[in-house]
Amino acid sequence: MPFLQYSSQRNLRKDIYEAYINRCNHNDERDNKEIVTQLAALRAEKAGLLGYTSHADFILEENMAKTPAKANELLHQLWDAALPVAKQEAAEMQALMNREGKGEQLEAWDWFYYADKVRKEKYAYDAEALRPYFKLENVREGLFFTAKKLYGLNFHLLKNVPVYHEEVSAYEVKSDDGTLVGLLYLDFHPRTSKRGGAWMTSYRKQSINANGRVAPIISIVCNFSRPTATQPALLTPDEAETFFHEAGHALHGLLSDVTYETLSGTSVPRDFVELPSQVMEHWAFEPEVLAQYARHYETGELIPAALVEKMKAASRFNQGFATVEYLAASLLDMAYHTLPAGNNIVPLAFEKEQMDTIGLIPQIAPRYRSTYFQHIFAGGYSAGYYSYIWSEVLDSDAFAAFKEAGNIFDQATAESFRKNYWRKVERKNQWTCILPSVNENQM
Ligand SMILES: [Zn+2]
Repeated sequence: MPFLQYSSQRNLRKDIYEAYINRCNHNDERDNKEIVTQLAALRAEKAGLLGYTSHADFILEENMAKTPAKANELLHQLWDAALPVAKQEAAEMQALMNREGKGEQLEAWDWFYYADKVRKEKYAYDAEALRPYFKLENVREGLFFTAKKLYGLNFHLLKNVPVYHEEVSAYEVKSDDGTLVGLLYLDFHPRTSKRGGAWMTSYRKQSINANGRVAPIISIVCNFSRPTATQPALLTPDEAETFFHEAGHALHGLLSDVTYETLSGTSVPRDFVELPSQVMEHWAFEPEVLAQYARHYETGELIPAALVEKMKAASRFNQGFATVEYLAASLLDMAYHTLPAGNNIVPLAFEKEQMDTIGLIPQIAPRYRSTYFQHIFAGGYSAGYYSYIWSEVLDSDAFAAFKEAGNIFDQATAESFRKNYWRKVERKNQWTCILPSVNENQM
């Protein structure tokens, strides 16, 4: 991706792009086409044996979406909105190419390169320059402030519990009346042997047994750059948002209130699980929250509103592309997994047919093509790749409920969200949507 973004050598961009989208598609021992054909057939056959029309019907029955038609309905609704935006972005890049006067037409291997140029031209925004406003300890305090305002949670640093590394800190989480909610471990920096990325995990899940509530032990793990001899750990806005995201999963685990461990915290349907995390991202850059934590680590100056605006505007850039490549892959996933038993498809022809049907433009490929679509053929997301955006619709809707209440910390909304949303309705052993502003019919 950095090569596609920065290299001015068009022929090399083409080479690397074509190599990228043809992974496991060279008719050699690493080719996946035959395996894809078999997987599609076997999954449909298995679903048939279990009494389902297709693999997607089998998978989705336990998700919020319930049926492939519901998932597809949302994907198509968003597709219709996103495709014109992507076409507009392509037109902007073409206009830039025209001004360069080389007589070139925008191709897929030009997108990243020209998107970067348009971005610089339109936004003159450098995320790195914002780091001084996002000192790690300040972001953490901003998060604790948000959790306190929303859910009355109080965080106390514990010095007397074992931690697995000296850089890990542990917090006791209590509600306002002093009840123990759980423990939260924070592990922020990369180390040799530590996996990359950011995630939430639980060492002990919440449950209720004969002795009462078992308090959960939850952990957030990140890979933020560590402090140096002269500077504290400073995050980019993206990293600050990631921290809020993982904290949302952590709150899901901490505020869990169920009897059975198997249904605790994040053990919810896949198209729901990113709601509690993604919704927290909305608070990270709200002016009221920024005012609590986003101060320059040297001068104490609050992050200027103009910089925040630039940051938000830049984050909307190229979203037509991002949404279209994601939706294309999601629709492809649903297409493979709604095939009936007895199917015998030719993967690339099938993929092309599906993409032609939805009108994908040649300058964009699905985020994952069939031969390397690991999420759906190996990663447990079969008939489930749609769930990222399903959760995104829910989290936007949920945050809108706070906005509609006129206060991002509205207590009645927060209470309703906590009680009704973050908890599985056990008696049905399935998730039920209770918050009034979210109605499955809308999706
Ligand atoms: Zn997540």
